[in-house]
Amino acid sequence: MLKVDNVTKYYGPLKAVDDLSFSVKPGDVFGLLGVNGAGKTTTFRIIMGLLDFDGGEVTLDGEKIDYSVTDKIGFLTEERSLLTKLTVMEQAIYYGILKGMTEEKVEKELDKWLIRFGIVDYKHRKIKELSKGNQQKIQFITAIINEPKLLILDEPFSGLDPINVEMFKEVIKELEKKGSMIIFSSHRMEHIELFCDKIVVLVEGKSVLKGSIKDIKKEYRKKNILIKGDIDKTKLEKIKGVLKIIKKSDEYEVKIEDEKYIKDVFDYTTTCDNVTKFVVEEPSLNEIFVSRVGEKYE
Ligand code: ATP
Repeated sequence: MLKVDNVTKYYGPLKAVDDLSFSVKPGDVFGLLGVNGAGKTTTFRIIMGLLDFDGGEVTLDGEKIDYSVTDKIGFLTEERSLLTKLTVMEQAIYYGILKGMTEEKVEKELDKWLIRFGIVDYKHRKIKELSKGNQQKIQFITAIINEPKLLILDEPFSGLDPINVEMFKEVIKELEKKGSMIIFSSHRMEHIELFCDKIVVLVEGKSVLKGSIKDIKKEYRKKNILIKGDIDKTKLEKIKGVLKIIKKSDEYEVKIEDEKYIKDVFDYTTTCDNVTKFVVEEPSLNEIFVSRVGEKYE
């Protein structure tokens, strides 16, 4: 298990990470979220043992993270950390050996992944000659080549077309099933919802929202109701608890302040003609994120 306990990090007077705690179990995909500058990269670098910090503790399976455990960690960064003058094979061997693998094992694994990602012809090509998406695939292969216990994925789908996004998703799901601990960071909330059970949201280094996405959605009392039919927007707007009504192509999305107002909205629709749809939806993670992060900025 990865445990981040009360970690604090200063850059001079700036508190970049403020008393942050969370844990990730084998088979968990954990989402670390935040706007630009919230402290995600700093947290990743601390977890990988690349950055000293000022308070708290980080342990992987009970051991402090230092060079002795870095061979158990895989990392895909947003900024490309490829050695672009090397060939794909040379680069894999360079990183594989750093992670304690033999050259033969690296080549065997590399071949397997190059076939899987459909880029077998690039094995002896220089990284700089590859397209952005193919470079991303090489970064991903480098991060997972040693089947890491802990895998950190910072915007893993950046620069990928939808078909390759699907391919990456499949591999991430497989690693999750095999029991890797995965920390996932993305500004795309639909990706977070797809992979992560638990999340932490950072604002200025501090956790402002933490827990399972399911519980977070349950606790967030606002709901959206989708209604199809001849409703009078002005009348609906006057119902207590109705925050906003958005006209979508052939239906309305009614945002309500609390689920206790669902019945009032429903009762109103029974007085309207042609109502063929009344569906209550949980708000999206994106909506909750914007609302919670926005509140903290006010
Ligand atoms: P992004 O989503 O833009 O990558 P982030 O959440 O990863 O942002 P960090 O890069 O961890 O954020 O930065 C957190 C804060 O620390 C920011 O205010 C940033 O300006 C500051 N910071 C980061 N690195 C340094 C450094 N080496 N020296 C001083 N301040 C730094």
